[in-house]
Amino acid sequence: MAVIERMTAERPPATIALTIDGRRVEVEAGATVLDAVNRLAIPLPQLCKDPDRPPLGACRTCLVHVEGQRGVPAACHLPAREGMVIETEHPEAVRIRAGVLELTRAMLTPREGSDGFGQLGVACAAHGVTAPAEAPLHRFEVDASKSFFLLDREACILCGRCTVACDDVQLIGAITLGGRGHATRVGVFDDGLLANSVCTSCGQCVAACPTGALSPKEAPAPVARRVETTCPYCGVGCAIVSQVRADGRLAIMADDVPANGSSEGMLCVKGRFGTGFVHSRERVTTPLVKRDGRWHEATWEEALETAAAGLARHRGRFGALASAKATNEDGYVVQKFCRVVMGTNDVDHCTRLCHSPSVEAMLASMGSGATSNSYVDYETAGCLLIVGADASANHPVIAVRFRRAMRNGARVVVVNPRRIELCEQADLWIQPRPGTDVTLFNAMARVILDEGLADLDFIARRTEGFDAWRASLAAFTLEGAAARTGVRAEAIAQAARWYAKPPFAGSCLVWGMGITQHVNGIHNAHALLNLALVTGQLGFTGAGISPLRGQNNVQGCGDAGCIPTNLPGYQAYDDQTLARFERAWGVRPPAQPGRVVTEMVEDCLTGGTRAMYVVGENPLLSEPDLHHAEKAIGQLDFLVVQDLFMHETAERAHVFLPAAAFAEKEGTFTNSERRVQRVRRVLDPPGLARADWWITGELAQRVGRHVGLEVARQFSYESAAQIFDEMARLTPFLGGISHARLDREGGLQWPCPTPEHPGTRFLYAESFPRGRARFVPALQTVEAAELPDPDFPFLLNTGRLLYHWHGGTLTRRVQGLLELAPRLEIAMHPADARRLGVETGARIRLASRRGELTGHARVTEAVRPGALFVPFVKLGESAANFLTNSAFDPGSKIPEYKVCAVRVERLPA
Ligand code: SF4
Ligand code: SF4
Repeated sequence: MAVIERMTAERPPATIALTIDGRRVEVEAGATVLDAVNRLAIPLPQLCKDPDRPPLGACRTCLVHVEGQRGVPAACHLPAREGMVIETEHPEAVRIRAGVLELTRAMLTPREGSDGFGQLGVACAAHGVTAPAEAPLHRFEVDASKSFFLLDREACILCGRCTVACDDVQLIGAITLGGRGHATRVGVFDDGLLANSVCTSCGQCVAACPTGALSPKEAPAPVARRVETTCPYCGVGCAIVSQVRADGRLAIMADDVPANGSSEGMLCVKGRFGTGFVHSRERVTTPLVKRDGRWHEATWEEALETAAAGLARHRGRFGALASAKATNEDGYVVQKFCRVVMGTNDVDHCTRLCHSPSVEAMLASMGSGATSNSYVDYETAGCLLIVGADASANHPVIAVRFRRAMRNGARVVVVNPRRIELCEQADLWIQPRPGTDVTLFNAMARVILDEGLADLDFIARRTEGFDAWRASLAAFTLEGAAARTGVRAEAIAQAARWYAKPPFAGSCLVWGMGITQHVNGIHNAHALLNLALVTGQLGFTGAGISPLRGQNNVQGCGDAGCIPTNLPGYQAYDDQTLARFERAWGVRPPAQPGRVVTEMVEDCLTGGTRAMYVVGENPLLSEPDLHHAEKAIGQLDFLVVQDLFMHETAERAHVFLPAAAFAEKEGTFTNSERRVQRVRRVLDPPGLARADWWITGELAQRVGRHVGLEVARQFSYESAAQIFDEMARLTPFLGGISHARLDREGGLQWPCPTPEHPGTRFLYAESFPRGRARFVPALQTVEAAELPDPDFPFLLNTGRLLYHWHGGTLTRRVQGLLELAPRLEIAMHPADARRLGVETGARIRLASRRGELTGHARVTEAVRPGALFVPFVKLGESAANFLTNSAFDPGSKIPEYKVCAVRVERLPA
């Protein structure tokens, strides 16, 4: 793979040596004495100092003695100087610190059931400070309106760490220090409840609070172990610290991962509070075999043998769905099982349902299907063009980076038919009519060309197909586009100008499923990529192209080969590659591309698919037109499901194989910026549950025996690390990565071809994997396969919610998330609501040509008149995919989830 700019090593800074409590320590120039104290792990109180933030100097508890100086300065504001001699235990420093702590402690009233005052309680105990004889007057009610944490102002020392966390880290601004003098207090605007504020429950303030004034609601218990791992939810792939309590349960996740993480200390509500699903009583922890229509508990031997016999019977009419929630190692073994034992390339995963148009278009234009930039580039970019992506709901930590970009002065253009949260802060919100994206992007390209904003040098040196593409734009005049898209001509032109010539640095083009889940999804993606090529906005710092990946490991699942069109590492089925895999696997993989998931499901109706192996997926919630999908899956002769929970698809299976959750196994995930990160086992799997790679390996050996293939050696893995090593040997861009290296260095971004390679921050600095990038004319401007008509007069749009993940299989098992979003809400414009006599909260039924769902109206101007929005999550019996249309993009085979026609009916309360 051609690439790349290597990350340059920075020159080591000059160091300063000082002595603290008789020990010599070196720190970088510019460090404070507190930095030096912490380097030696000396337990000095520092209540208002966040390890990742500049000092506030508000609590005055880090007082130290400096030899040769009078007084006891605060270490957090004392610059370290060569030769300084510091004493933290000097009697004067200890005496004054104790006084400060005593005064601080005397202001607070302990709450019943709390386990003390956090870091303040620890510091008081160390300084012999006890509770005052008389507790101060109780002045404030506890705000327990949020599901995961509470605010107890009686335990607040007004250090301001929480407001900094909310304002400067998450850039949300939900809480502030209000009032004056003695009446100063932390809270939301107008002394309201947190639940009624813009608070997103991210928990950044809870993690920062040094006294427990902001504290989790879960019953306190000491943390027994802390293990670095990776969030199991979205493609941002935040590095997190699993905290295991003494009672064996996961506590809330911490964010203080030291290096090479992707989150930089930020998490969202799901990552910080939402991992309790691993302890759900609904976990299936024993293998199950169905006999006479009923589930029976089985031994692993019995279940695996039954599964193997059933799958072997249908070799040749078989398909597999791998899991983008499972690890790279899990995915690698699933695709190897399909190719080596089942003799088929019919293996796919959920990328088909979210970003297959992006991947197909990028492969055609650039030769690689991955995000080209890193997350940090969003913050250094001079312009962000964010298309069809609601990061605040889907990728909250990336939304923080977008907000940082705005703070840094970047121009932000949002293209979205809905008024998403980012629209409030963006410089420009473009709301094109549904299905007119190609017209919009082509008109922007015309502006760039007509106004001389194209990067002609880049085009000449690095691309091909320019002239034909330019000619294809003839019909896309600014005026015509304005009429067709409903967007003002000046707004289209302004977006083009900012993107082509940002005020500083480069431009990042970011898109989501708003443009991919359409029958012309691949044309939408090409139209966007052409914008990047005509302006040369990729291949340097602060520029790039980013399809925001949905699930935690959707990037890695594709990298590992769980796609029917390519071998691991997106390698083609050419003779040379097939021979290399044959040498490694002992069996030559089939040379023909396999079927994608939508084709496999469709073929259930014709007998082309008789058996399926579904790992960590629930197609009977995620497929479009669910009644049709149910009918298709119902035709299968044999179905094996491997998962954590019994779900809609699993209920129809013949064998259920219980899998370990992310916290119960070793492995790696690869996030949206190509960063391979470790996933670590912190808990034992419950009951008989096992890691996916182990289950698939055992299954493969047994199917092998049934079909006369000796593959025991190929599937007898002893560890996830061994699997990764095999995958890395066969996948050039992963060649320099191993578990051992990730453990030493933290996450690494591919391409990383050799053990010495530092990883790749951004792609395409010098060349593209296919040589020159290709302009591909994008002309298909079909509005949608199904548009409103008198019978179904509303246009339905679907998407995700902040508090639930996809269909909600995991998040519905987390009580606090369920409390934050307990029911299905359908967004409707006030004009439509008035006409239908519907108010917020009213029960309504939506019906399409394929099915119906019931939910509660939410009247909002965030949607256009005539449009409705419903999230994917299944709450109660309602799921959006009973309504959606299975019409798909012929190029990428993605279904048109985003648009279908429905009617609305008000139901009795
Ligand atoms: S939970 Fe997050 S959004 Fe809410 S107040 Fe705390 S930092 Fe702000
Ligand atoms: S942004 Fe995504 S990866 Fe990060 S904590 Fe939230 S769900 Fe997890």
